Amino acid sequence: MNLDFSPEENAFRQQVRAFIKDNYPPELRAAQDSGEPLTRELYLAWHKVLAKKGWVAPSWPKEFGGTDWTPTQKYIWSEESAAAETLPPLPFGVNMLAPVVYTFGTEEQKAKFLPGIYNGEVWWCQGYSEPGAGSDLASLKTKAERVTADDGKEYYIVNGQKTWTTLGQFADWGFFLVRTDPDAKPQAGISFLLIDMKSPGVSVRPIITLEGGHEVNDVFLDNVKVPVENRIFHENQGWTCAKALLAHERSGIAGVARSKRNLEKLRQIATTERSDAGGSLLSDAFFRRKVAELEIDLTALEFTELRTLAGESSGKGPGPESSILKIKGTEIQQRLQELALEAVGHYGAPFLRDLGHNAGVGPDYAEGLAGDMFNGRKTSIYGGSNEIQRNIIAKMVLGL
Ligand SMILES: Cc1cc2nc3c(=O)[nH]c(=O)nc-3n(C[C@H](O)[C@H](O)[C@H](O)COP(=O)(O)OP(=O)(O)OC[C@H]3O[C@@H](n4cnc5c(N)ncnc54)[C@H](O)[C@@H]3O)c2cc1C
Repeated sequence: MNLDFSPEENAFRQQVRAFIKDNYPPELRAAQDSGEPLTRELYLAWHKVLAKKGWVAPSWPKEFGGTDWTPTQKYIWSEESAAAETLPPLPFGVNMLAPVVYTFGTEEQKAKFLPGIYNGEVWWCQGYSEPGAGSDLASLKTKAERVTADDGKEYYIVNGQKTWTTLGQFADWGFFLVRTDPDAKPQAGISFLLIDMKSPGVSVRPIITLEGGHEVNDVFLDNVKVPVENRIFHENQGWTCAKALLAHERSGIAGVARSKRNLEKLRQIATTERSDAGGSLLSDAFFRRKVAELEIDLTALEFTELRTLAGESSGKGPGPESSILKIKGTEIQQRLQELALEAVGHYGAPFLRDLGHNAGVGPDYAEGLAGDMFNGRKTSIYGGSNEIQRNIIAKMVLGL
């Protein structure tokens, strides 16, 4: 899509581009290029640079550290970040928890938790899903009983299991949904608790995903003692926070700028690869049609995202339209991964994480495509599955 940018906006783009070029940590770039699993320090390296610059949380209100950028500046920022293939700050603290803290938290909670999120000093994980509570999240069973301890202070004693906890192996703290009133209607008896992952009784066990990575975990909570002041918002009203957080989570999943970048890469691959007829794969009518359909869908999604961004800048939080962004964004990401693998054909097959590379078989650009494709199946499941998003659209947008 061609947008007209003002001279100031073009200058901003140059400033962003130069900043990324001059400051992106070389050790992170090298690790990304090698495809090796990232360490905790590397995950946080770019986050910390952005925090010093004041650019880590463009969507936060200015008073808490937001950049006060216009929707167009935010758009330019995401385009330039995608073009430079930077590793975005982890979403759990910056995009998911922080809006809950500055919207529903007390002044003490804002002062205590927002700086650590902003500076990348505290790593957060999300403890929502349970083995029996995914799509039907409100049926969660992890229990928190309120007690007064010998020191006279009030605590919750938390027992239960969370699952699919992304990067929980690195987390310092987690935000958890727990049941504080077992007798109330499912949504009405839930509270939103912040739990120090180093508390006695918290244990984390890896789940290994399809492509061999350790990205998700089971988290067990066994008589974990949590001070009552770590609860955000009122007791039994955590569902309000949970829903607000999910809307922020979903709009972040769309990944339009990164899909545009990946579409460009797909074109390059398809220009190099040969079709059965002898020309480039991109000159093959069937393949070109699939690429064109993707591009049309991506452009339409880009307009929808810009509308959402414009709405947010006029004070409107992300609403049910974030479900549309989530569905279309993740479908496009998955189609891009499938087409890239289709383009390299059997050269995609030798990918094995244990080998760490294609062992010299096939072109460099084939490396990692099979792993990306397998790993990318998750995007239509997490953040609320795409089937559930369709239910939300039916109810909240179409009024069915
Ligand atoms: C890689 C990955 C990372 C994740 N990270 C986290 C995390 O950090 N923290 C966290 O809390 N959770 C996380 N999740 C969990 C995620 O939110 C859940 O997997 C998701 O909500 C689906 O729940 P479920 O897996 O229990 O599937 P289920 O709810 O059992 O659903 C199974 C299937 O049935 C369909 N289905 C269920 N109900 C309906 C319905 N009413 N109408 C139509 N179709 C329906 C679903 O769409 C799905 O296809 C992660 C998941 C993955 C895969």
